[in-house]
Amino acid sequence: MNYKVRFVNYPLQYKNLKREIDTAITRVLTKGDLILREDVETFEKNLASFVGVKYAVGVNSCTDALIFSLMANGVGAGDEVITVSHTFFATVEAITHCGAKPILVDVEKDFLIDATAIEGVITKKTKAILPVHLNGRLSDMVKIMALAKKYKLAVIEDAAQALGAKIKMENGAWKMAGSFGSAGCFSFYPAKILGGAGDGGAVVTNNKTLADVVRLLRNHGQKTKTEIVRYGFTSRLHNIQAAILNAKFAHVPEWIKKRQQIARAYDKGLSSLSSIVLPPKPDARHIDVYQNYVLRVKKRDELFKYLAQQGTETLIKDSIPLHHQKALGLSDFRLPFSEKLAKEVISLPMYPELTNKEIDYVISCIKNFYQG
Ligand SMILES: *Cc1c(COP(=O)(O)O)cnc(C)c1O
Repeated sequence: MNYKVRFVNYPLQYKNLKREIDTAITRVLTKGDLILREDVETFEKNLASFVGVKYAVGVNSCTDALIFSLMANGVGAGDEVITVSHTFFATVEAITHCGAKPILVDVEKDFLIDATAIEGVITKKTKAILPVHLNGRLSDMVKIMALAKKYKLAVIEDAAQALGAKIKMENGAWKMAGSFGSAGCFSFYPAKILGGAGDGGAVVTNNKTLADVVRLLRNHGQKTKTEIVRYGFTSRLHNIQAAILNAKFAHVPEWIKKRQQIARAYDKGLSSLSSIVLPPKPDARHIDVYQNYVLRVKKRDELFKYLAQQGTETLIKDSIPLHHQKALGLSDFRLPFSEKLAKEVISLPMYPELTNKEIDYVISCIKNFYQG
Protein backbone atom coordinates (compact mmCIF):
# COMPACT_ATOMS: atom_id res chain seq x y z
CA MET A 1 0.00 0.00 0.00
CA ASN A 2 1.16 3.48 -0.80
CA TYR A 3 0.66 5.46 2.39
CA LYS A 4 0.43 9.24 2.54
CA VAL A 5 1.96 9.13 6.03
CA ARG A 6 4.20 6.16 6.72
CA PHE A 7 4.75 4.60 10.13
CA VAL A 8 8.51 4.70 9.63
CA ASN A 9 10.47 6.31 6.82
CA TYR A 10 13.97 4.88 6.56
CA PRO A 11 14.76 6.20 3.05
CA LEU A 12 14.04 9.76 4.12
CA GLN A 13 16.46 9.68 7.06
CA TYR A 14 19.13 8.21 4.78
CA LYS A 15 18.51 10.90 2.17
CA ASN A 16 19.04 13.61 4.81
CA LEU A 17 22.29 12.06 6.09
CA LYS A 18 23.51 10.47 2.88
CA ARG A 19 26.90 12.17 2.78
CA GLU A 20 27.83 11.33 6.40
CA ILE A 21 26.64 7.74 6.14
CA ASP A 22 28.18 7.02 2.75
CA THR A 23 31.50 8.44 3.93
CA ALA A 24 31.47 6.20 7.00
CA ILE A 25 30.58 3.06 5.03
CA THR A 26 33.18 3.72 2.34
CA ARG A 27 35.88 4.34 4.92
CA VAL A 28 35.12 1.11 6.80
CA LEU A 29 34.99 -1.03 3.66
CA THR A 30 38.09 0.54 2.13
CA LYS A 31 40.10 -0.18 5.26
CA GLY A 32 38.53 -3.62 5.75
CA ASP A 33 37.61 -2.70 9.34
CA LEU A 34 34.78 -5.18 9.81
CA ILE A 35 34.90 -6.85 13.23
CA LEU A 36 35.51 -5.13 16.59
CA ARG A 37 37.55 -2.26 15.23
CA GLU A 38 37.95 1.37 16.18
CA ASP A 39 34.41 2.40 15.22
CA VAL A 40 32.95 0.01 17.81
CA GLU A 41 35.26 1.44 20.48
CA THR A 42 34.35 5.00 19.52
CA PHE A 43 30.68 4.14 19.61
CA GLU A 44 31.01 2.54 23.03
CA LYS A 45 32.68 5.73 24.32
CA ASN A 46 29.98 7.90 22.73
CA LEU A 47 27.19 5.84 24.26
CA ALA A 48 28.72 5.59 27.74
CA SER A 49 29.29 9.33 27.86
CA PHE A 50 25.77 10.11 26.57
CA VAL A 51 24.13 7.88 29.21
CA GLY A 52 26.51 9.00 31.94
CA VAL A 53 28.06 5.63 32.81
CA LYS A 54 31.60 4.28 32.73
CA TYR A 55 31.30 1.42 30.23
CA ALA A 56 29.31 0.44 27.15
CA VAL A 57 29.71 -2.81 25.25
CA GLY A 58 28.33 -3.12 21.73
CA VAL A 59 26.52 -6.35 20.88
CA ASN A 60 24.37 -7.50 17.99
CA SER A 61 20.95 -6.67 19.49
CA CYS A 62 19.20 -5.51 22.61
CA THR A 63 17.85 -9.04 23.02
CA ASP A 64 21.43 -10.31 23.41
CA ALA A 65 22.26 -7.30 25.60
CA LEU A 66 19.47 -8.43 27.95
CA ILE A 67 20.54 -12.10 27.88
CA PHE A 68 24.19 -11.20 28.56
CA SER A 69 23.28 -8.75 31.34
CA LEU A 70 21.18 -11.38 33.06
CA MET A 71 23.92 -13.99 32.67
CA ALA A 72 26.59 -11.58 33.90
CA ASN A 73 24.44 -11.00 37.00
CA GLY A 74 24.42 -14.73 37.63
CA VAL A 75 20.80 -15.33 36.57
CA GLY A 76 20.30 -18.95 35.53
CA ALA A 77 18.21 -22.08 35.89
CA GLY A 78 15.78 -22.01 38.81
CA ASP A 79 15.92 -18.24 39.24
CA GLU A 80 13.02 -15.84 38.86
CA VAL A 81 13.12 -12.44 37.21
CA ILE A 82 10.32 -9.92 37.70
CA THR A 83 9.18 -7.99 34.62
CA VAL A 84 6.07 -7.00 32.66
CA SER A 85 3.95 -8.65 30.01
CA HIS A 86 3.19 -5.31 28.33
CA THR A 87 6.50 -5.02 26.47
CA PHE A 88 8.15 -6.10 23.26
CA PHE A 89 8.57 -9.84 23.77
CA ALA A 90 12.38 -9.82 23.65
CA THR A 91 12.30 -8.80 27.32
CA VAL A 92 10.60 -12.00 28.43
CA GLU A 93 12.40 -14.12 25.86
CA ALA A 94 15.78 -13.03 27.25
CA ILE A 95 14.84 -14.26 30.73
CA THR A 96 13.82 -17.70 29.48
CA HIS A 97 17.01 -18.03 27.41
CA CYS A 98 18.97 -17.83 30.67
CA GLY A 99 16.94 -20.73 32.02
CA ALA A 100 15.14 -18.44 34.46
CA LYS A 101 11.41 -17.95 34.94
CA PRO A 102 9.76 -14.64 34.06
CA ILE A 103 7.42 -13.42 36.80
CA LEU A 104 5.04 -10.98 35.17
CA VAL A 105 3.36 -8.07 36.91
CA ASP A 106 0.89 -5.51 35.63
CA VAL A 107 1.62 -2.04 34.33
CA GLU A 108 0.12 1.29 35.36
CA LYS A 109 -1.64 3.95 33.31
CA ASP A 110 1.74 5.16 32.02
CA PHE A 111 2.35 1.67 30.48
CA LEU A 112 5.21 1.06 32.94
CA ILE A 113 5.77 -1.59 35.59
CA ASP A 114 3.58 -1.12 38.67
CA ALA A 115 6.37 -0.74 41.22
CA THR A 116 3.93 -1.35 44.07
CA ALA A 117 3.16 -4.83 42.64
CA ILE A 118 6.79 -5.98 42.73
CA GLU A 119 7.25 -6.63 46.44
CA GLY A 120 4.31 -9.04 46.55
CA VAL A 121 5.86 -11.41 44.01
CA ILE A 122 9.40 -11.51 45.41
CA THR A 123 10.33 -15.03 46.54
CA LYS A 124 13.52 -16.80 47.63
CA LYS A 125 14.14 -17.56 43.94
CA THR A 126 13.94 -13.94 42.78
CA LYS A 127 17.27 -12.82 41.37
CA ALA A 128 16.51 -9.67 39.42
CA ILE A 129 13.99 -7.00 38.45
CA LEU A 130 13.80 -6.09 34.77
CA PRO A 131 11.86 -2.83 34.29
CA VAL A 132 11.06 -1.75 30.73
CA HIS A 133 11.12 1.96 29.95
CA LEU A 134 8.39 1.58 27.38
CA ASN A 135 7.67 4.22 24.73
CA GLY A 136 10.57 6.37 25.91
CA ARG A 137 9.51 7.04 29.51
CA LEU A 138 11.42 5.92 32.57
CA SER A 139 9.93 3.46 35.05
CA ASP A 140 9.80 4.45 38.72
CA MET A 141 13.49 3.72 39.23
CA VAL A 142 13.66 5.33 42.66
CA LYS A 143 11.16 2.84 44.08
CA ILE A 144 12.60 -0.07 42.11
CA MET A 145 16.20 0.59 43.21
CA ALA A 146 15.05 0.86 46.84
CA LEU A 147 13.31 -2.52 46.59
CA ALA A 148 16.35 -4.06 44.91
CA LYS A 149 18.54 -2.83 47.72
CA LYS A 150 16.17 -4.13 50.40
CA TYR A 151 15.99 -7.63 48.86
CA LYS A 152 19.52 -7.66 47.34
CA LEU A 153 18.30 -8.08 43.76
CA ALA A 154 19.97 -7.10 40.51
CA VAL A 155 18.22 -4.52 38.34
CA ILE A 156 18.58 -4.75 34.59
CA GLU A 157 16.94 -1.95 32.64
CA ASP A 158 15.36 -2.63 29.28
CA ALA A 159 16.10 0.80 27.87
CA ALA A 160 15.62 -0.27 24.23
CA GLN A 161 13.03 2.48 23.78
CA ALA A 162 14.50 5.07 26.10
CA LEU A 163 17.82 6.44 24.86
CA GLY A 164 17.96 9.93 26.40
CA ALA A 165 14.93 9.59 28.71
CA LYS A 166 15.52 11.06 32.19
CA ILE A 167 14.02 11.40 35.63
CA LYS A 168 14.71 14.01 38.26
CA MET A 169 16.34 12.70 41.42
CA GLU A 170 15.78 13.99 44.95
CA ASN A 171 18.94 16.09 44.75
CA GLY A 172 17.54 17.85 41.68
CA ALA A 173 19.88 16.19 39.19
CA TRP A 174 18.50 14.44 36.09
CA LYS A 175 19.48 10.82 35.60
CA MET A 176 19.32 8.86 32.35
CA ALA A 177 17.67 5.61 31.38
CA GLY A 178 20.24 2.82 31.58
CA SER A 179 22.27 4.42 34.39
CA PHE A 180 20.32 3.11 37.39
CA GLY A 181 20.61 -0.66 37.37
CA SER A 182 23.59 -2.94 37.38
CA ALA A 183 23.14 -2.92 33.60
CA GLY A 184 21.11 -1.01 31.01
CA CYS A 185 20.29 -2.47 27.61
CA PHE A 186 19.82 -0.49 24.40
CA SER A 187 18.65 -1.38 20.89
CA PHE A 188 19.81 0.18 17.64
CA TYR A 189 17.21 -1.61 15.54
CA PRO A 190 16.44 0.75 12.61
CA ALA A 191 13.17 2.08 14.06
CA LYS A 192 14.66 2.98 17.43
CA ILE A 193 15.60 6.54 18.39
CA LEU A 194 19.16 5.85 17.26
CA GLY A 195 18.81 3.20 14.56
CA GLY A 196 21.45 1.43 12.47
CA ALA A 197 21.18 -0.15 9.04
CA GLY A 198 20.23 -3.47 10.61
CA ASP A 199 20.46 -4.95 14.09
CA GLY A 200 22.57 -3.64 16.93
CA GLY A 201 22.52 -3.30 20.69
CA ALA A 202 24.60 -2.45 23.74
CA VAL A 203 24.96 -3.02 27.46
CA VAL A 204 25.89 -0.01 29.61
CA THR A 205 27.13 -0.28 33.17
CA ASN A 206 29.34 1.25 35.85
CA ASN A 207 30.62 -2.18 36.82
CA LYS A 208 33.91 -3.11 35.13
CA THR A 209 33.60 -6.81 35.95
CA LEU A 210 30.15 -6.92 34.37
CA ALA A 211 31.38 -5.07 31.27
CA ASP A 212 34.26 -7.53 30.95
CA VAL A 213 31.93 -10.53 31.19
CA VAL A 214 29.69 -9.07 28.46
CA ARG A 215 32.78 -8.51 26.28
CA LEU A 216 33.64 -12.19 26.69
CA LEU A 217 30.08 -13.38 26.05
CA ARG A 218 29.78 -11.43 22.79
CA ASN A 219 32.98 -12.94 21.40
CA HIS A 220 33.20 -16.68 22.14
CA GLY A 221 34.58 -16.24 25.63
CA GLN A 222 37.86 -15.18 24.07
CA LYS A 223 40.02 -13.12 26.39
CA THR A 224 42.92 -12.88 23.96
CA LYS A 225 43.49 -14.37 20.52
CA THR A 226 44.64 -17.59 22.13
CA GLU A 227 42.96 -17.72 25.54
CA ILE A 228 39.34 -18.81 25.94
CA VAL A 229 37.98 -18.34 29.46
CA ARG A 230 34.30 -19.36 29.12
CA TYR A 231 31.63 -20.43 26.65
CA GLY A 232 30.30 -17.47 24.72
CA PHE A 233 28.43 -16.42 21.59
CA THR A 234 28.89 -14.63 18.26
CA SER A 235 27.22 -11.36 19.10
CA ARG A 236 29.37 -8.39 18.27
CA LEU A 237 28.12 -4.98 17.21
CA HIS A 238 29.32 -4.90 13.60
CA ASN A 239 31.98 -2.29 12.98
CA ILE A 240 30.12 -0.96 9.94
CA GLN A 241 26.98 -0.49 12.07
CA ALA A 242 29.03 1.27 14.73
CA ALA A 243 30.40 3.63 12.04
CA ILE A 244 26.85 4.42 10.87
CA LEU A 245 25.65 4.90 14.45
CA ASN A 246 28.58 7.23 15.17
CA ALA A 247 27.64 9.30 12.12
CA LYS A 248 24.08 9.58 13.44
CA PHE A 249 24.90 10.12 17.12
CA ALA A 250 25.36 13.88 16.92
CA HIS A 251 21.76 14.17 15.70
CA VAL A 252 20.21 12.33 18.64
CA PRO A 253 19.53 15.43 20.81
CA GLU A 254 17.82 17.29 17.94
CA TRP A 255 15.85 14.14 17.02
CA ILE A 256 14.61 13.77 20.59
CA LYS A 257 13.52 17.44 20.60
CA LYS A 258 11.64 16.87 17.36
CA ARG A 259 9.90 13.79 18.80
CA GLN A 260 8.85 15.84 21.82
CA GLN A 261 7.47 18.59 19.55
CA ILE A 262 5.51 16.05 17.51
CA ALA A 263 4.08 14.59 20.74
CA ARG A 264 2.95 18.08 21.82
CA ALA A 265 1.31 18.61 18.42
CA TYR A 266 -0.57 15.29 18.67
CA ASP A 267 -1.56 16.08 22.29
CA LYS A 268 -2.95 19.44 21.27
CA GLY A 269 -4.72 18.17 18.17
CA LEU A 270 -6.36 15.19 19.88
CA SER A 271 -7.07 16.51 23.37
CA SER A 272 -10.71 17.36 22.62
CA LEU A 273 -11.66 13.77 21.72
CA SER A 274 -13.38 11.93 24.55
CA SER A 275 -12.81 8.49 22.95
CA ILE A 276 -9.06 8.84 23.34
CA VAL A 277 -6.68 8.63 26.29
CA LEU A 278 -3.48 10.48 25.45
CA PRO A 279 -0.07 9.12 26.50
CA PRO A 280 1.34 10.47 29.78
CA LYS A 281 2.77 13.95 29.42
CA PRO A 282 6.18 14.88 30.79
CA ASP A 283 5.93 16.34 34.29
CA ALA A 284 8.29 17.83 36.84
CA ARG A 285 9.99 14.43 37.21
CA HIS A 286 10.04 12.97 33.68
CA ILE A 287 11.67 13.88 30.40
CA ASP A 288 10.27 11.46 27.82
CA VAL A 289 11.81 10.74 24.43
CA TYR A 290 8.73 9.33 22.62
CA GLN A 291 10.13 6.24 20.97
CA ASN A 292 6.43 5.63 20.39
CA TYR A 293 3.34 7.80 20.65
CA VAL A 294 0.68 5.39 21.92
CA LEU A 295 -3.01 6.21 22.29
CA ARG A 296 -5.65 4.23 24.16
CA VAL A 297 -8.79 4.43 22.07
CA LYS A 298 -12.33 3.17 21.69
CA LYS A 299 -13.08 1.13 18.53
CA ARG A 300 -9.36 0.56 18.08
CA ASP A 301 -9.46 -1.97 15.23
CA GLU A 302 -11.98 0.12 13.28
CA LEU A 303 -9.79 3.20 13.73
CA PHE A 304 -6.74 1.28 12.48
CA LYS A 305 -8.62 0.23 9.33
CA TYR A 306 -10.05 3.68 8.74
CA LEU A 307 -6.64 5.32 9.06
CA ALA A 308 -5.14 2.83 6.60
CA GLN A 309 -7.92 3.66 4.12
CA GLN A 310 -7.07 7.34 4.52
CA GLY A 311 -3.40 6.60 3.84
CA THR A 312 -2.14 6.84 7.42
CA GLU A 313 -0.05 3.89 8.55
CA THR A 314 -0.30 3.06 12.27
CA LEU A 315 0.79 0.09 14.35
CA ILE A 316 -1.01 -2.29 16.69
CA LYS A 317 1.75 -4.29 18.27
CA ASP A 318 0.13 -5.86 21.29
CA SER A 319 -3.28 -7.13 20.21
CA ILE A 320 -2.61 -10.44 22.01
CA PRO A 321 -1.12 -9.85 25.47
CA LEU A 322 2.23 -11.61 25.61
CA HIS A 323 1.17 -13.88 28.46
CA HIS A 324 -1.78 -15.07 26.32
CA GLN A 325 0.52 -16.31 23.53
CA LYS A 326 -0.19 -20.02 23.92
CA ALA A 327 3.26 -21.26 22.91
CA LEU A 328 5.01 -19.35 25.68
CA GLY A 329 3.48 -21.13 28.69
CA LEU A 330 2.77 -17.91 30.60
CA SER A 331 -1.02 -18.09 30.68
CA ASP A 332 -1.26 -18.46 34.47
CA PHE A 333 -0.58 -14.77 34.97
CA ARG A 334 -3.60 -12.55 35.53
CA LEU A 335 -2.79 -9.02 34.50
CA PRO A 336 -6.10 -7.20 34.01
CA PHE A 337 -4.72 -3.83 32.98
CA SER A 338 -2.20 -5.28 30.49
CA GLU A 339 -5.07 -7.34 29.03
CA LYS A 340 -7.24 -4.23 28.73
CA LEU A 341 -4.43 -2.30 27.05
CA ALA A 342 -4.05 -5.03 24.43
CA LYS A 343 -7.53 -4.08 23.18
CA GLU A 344 -6.99 -0.34 23.29
CA VAL A 345 -3.51 0.68 22.20
CA ILE A 346 -2.49 2.05 18.81
CA SER A 347 0.80 3.74 17.86
CA LEU A 348 0.82 6.79 15.61
CA PRO A 349 3.65 7.68 13.22
CA MET A 350 6.51 9.16 15.29
CA TYR A 351 9.88 10.02 13.79
CA PRO A 352 11.83 13.26 13.44
CA GLU A 353 11.34 13.49 9.68
CA LEU A 354 7.53 13.82 9.97
CA THR A 355 6.35 17.14 8.54
CA ASN A 356 3.77 19.46 10.15
CA LYS A 357 1.49 18.76 7.22
CA GLU A 358 1.69 15.02 7.85
CA ILE A 359 1.05 15.47 11.58
CA ASP A 360 -1.99 17.67 10.85
CA TYR A 361 -3.26 15.07 8.39
CA VAL A 362 -3.02 12.25 10.95
CA ILE A 363 -4.88 14.41 13.50
CA SER A 364 -7.61 15.36 11.04
CA CYS A 365 -8.14 11.71 10.04
CA ILE A 366 -8.57 10.67 13.69
CA LYS A 367 -10.95 13.58 14.30
CA ASN A 368 -13.01 12.64 11.25
CA PHE A 369 -13.26 9.05 12.52
CA TYR A 370 -14.63 10.01 15.94
CA GLN A 371 -16.56 13.16 15.05
CA GLY A 372 -17.77 12.15 11.58
C1 LIG B 1 13.31 -3.24 20.39
C2 LIG B 1 13.16 -3.76 21.76
C3 LIG B 1 13.90 -4.84 22.24
C4 LIG B 1 14.76 -5.70 21.37
O1 LIG B 1 15.69 -5.03 20.65
P1 LIG B 1 16.50 -5.80 19.49
O2 LIG B 1 17.68 -4.91 19.29
O3 LIG B 1 15.58 -5.85 18.31
O4 LIG B 1 16.87 -7.14 19.99
C5 LIG B 1 13.77 -5.19 23.56
N1 LIG B 1 12.93 -4.53 24.39
C6 LIG B 1 12.18 -3.51 23.97
C7 LIG B 1 11.29 -2.81 24.93
C8 LIG B 1 12.25 -3.10 22.63
O5 LIG B 1 11.48 -2.10 22.22
